[in-house]
Amino acid sequence: MRDASSHARPQRNIPAAPTSAPRFLALVILLAALGALTHPLWGSTRSAAQNTPTEPSPVPSLPPPPQETSLPSYPITTPTTTPPAPLPIGIVAGHSGEQNGIRDPGAICPDGWEEVEINLDIAQRVVDFLRLLGYDVDLLGEYDDNLQGYRGRVLVSIHADSCTPPEASGFKVAHAEDSAIPEEEDYLVACLTSRYQARTGLSFHRWSITPDMTEYHIFYTIDRGTPAVIIEVGFMGGDRDLLRDHPDVVARGVAEGILCFIRGETP
Ligand SMILES: [Zn+2]
Repeated sequence: MRDASSHARPQRNIPAAPTSAPRFLALVILLAALGALTHPLWGSTRSAAQNTPTEPSPVPSLPPPPQETSLPSYPITTPTTTPPAPLPIGIVAGHSGEQNGIRDPGAICPDGWEEVEINLDIAQRVVDFLRLLGYDVDLLGEYDDNLQGYRGRVLVSIHADSCTPPEASGFKVAHAEDSAIPEEEDYLVACLTSRYQARTGLSFHRWSITPDMTEYHIFYTIDRGTPAVIIEVGFMGGDRDLLRDHPDVVARGVAEGILCFIRGETP
């Protein structure tokens, strides 16, 4: 059973006291004043207002940007593969050596002077000169087995012209008529002609270039990619003094022509 009386507000008749109202109001005002002075929220609000800076606070300094660190250095290593050694220079001493056991003297003057002697002497001097400069040079005979498919950076075959006619003088240079590398071999001819002429003072004997030169057998024995020429260094008759008494000058002119070609100089 529900007991309604336990939750009912007791009805009491409280008489009004008109004289206590002003005093109650004064008490409320007093408490309010005290609260304003002591309330923590109000106090903190005023404190925050008073502490508001009148000038902008300095911008907090940002942490320094990360320093760009340099890349780690690695030791410079040299390639482990070595470049291929440059091809040798081939110098042929015309008519030197033997073919099938037979000696070939080349041209022979009435006094017995043989072309092969001149060629061998000059070729050896050219080889010595180039080797002194550090080049790898092969001295080859006219029918040297090593000429088969020979690959070199350049090949020069050294010959001399005959004693007749006795007044004939001059030198000449030629490459294969059907050159596989005409631009390179034209340049080689130009280099040799220019340097040899400057060194010896001989003139170019253009009109005596024959198929013996332009169809020279060695041109078709060596690798066709090897720039090759044959040089007739002078006539054994008209240029005898130069060839016999100054082979060093002759050799120097040939070597300088080869160097012109190798170094890419202007002829
Ligand atoms: Zn010859």
